[in-house]
Amino acid sequence: MAFETPDEKGPAPARAYVYSGEWVADCTRPGCGCVEFLFTPQKMNGPRVLRKPFFACSNCGQQAVIDWPGHQDEIMLLLRRRPIPQTRNWYPQDHRSRSTSGSPTGRRSRS
Ligand SMILES: [Zn+2]
Repeated sequence: MAFETPDEKGPAPARAYVYSGEWVADCTRPGCGCVEFLFTPQKMNGPRVLRKPFFACSNCGQQAVIDWPGHQDEIMLLLRRRPIPQTRNWYPQDHRSRSTSGSPTGRRSRS
């Protein structure tokens, strides 16, 4: 199956966020519920260092452009100071997970 870069008229962008120190995004197809890594390893079992050009769901096949935050390097620098990987989480403003998880960054989302 060939993957083509989706055009701007496609589905809503997949919003990048950090979960346990990894950039991920939720599938944009309603009801799918799949979460995909946004970086892939350069070599087998290596760290995820190659940024994907677009979102591709391994569950339902949905493709979408990725909505990256403008300051992702600063976000990762700050998160890497946390010794426990599971606490390295970041969500964009008004992201679904941010409002339902009580914000693992220790800050409450404003409502
Ligand atoms: Zn999907």
